[in-house]
Amino acid sequence: MAIIITDECINCGACEPECPNTAIYEGADDWRYKDGTSLEGTVVLTNGTEVDADEAQEPISDEIYYIVPDKCTECKGFHDEPQCAAVCPVDCCVPDEDVVETEEELLAKQRFMHPDG
Ligand code: SF4
Ligand code: SF4
Repeated sequence: MAIIITDECINCGACEPECPNTAIYEGADDWRYKDGTSLEGTVVLTNGTEVDADEAQEPISDEIYYIVPDKCTECKGFHDEPQCAAVCPVDCCVPDEDVVETEEELLAKQRFMHPDG
């Protein structure tokens, strides 16, 4: 499953640079599939959805840092544990029970975003 940031976030920004998938954004910032990945132009996600990787997407939160579920692999393929949760001073990076994925699915997402390793 993806990691989600709860409303206990104090906007310290410590998590953002730690994410190997650039899945974390500051509140009110636009996000893009291409940020920090090899994706560009029209791509079909591993869940079958077609998206424009270059297109700016609406912020998921306007108030606090947020994680894009489609880009979060729980750090699979890079690290043994979620790096955001490891650095968060208030422990507000927690598993999102609504976005449950298997390890294989998470690794497939990681390879999809970073085919060159
Ligand atoms: S768990 Fe890893 S991939 Fe997911 S948002 Fe946190 S740092 Fe990024
Ligand atoms: S490290 Fe925790 S408190 Fe700081 S911005 Fe990230 S989620 Fe919010």
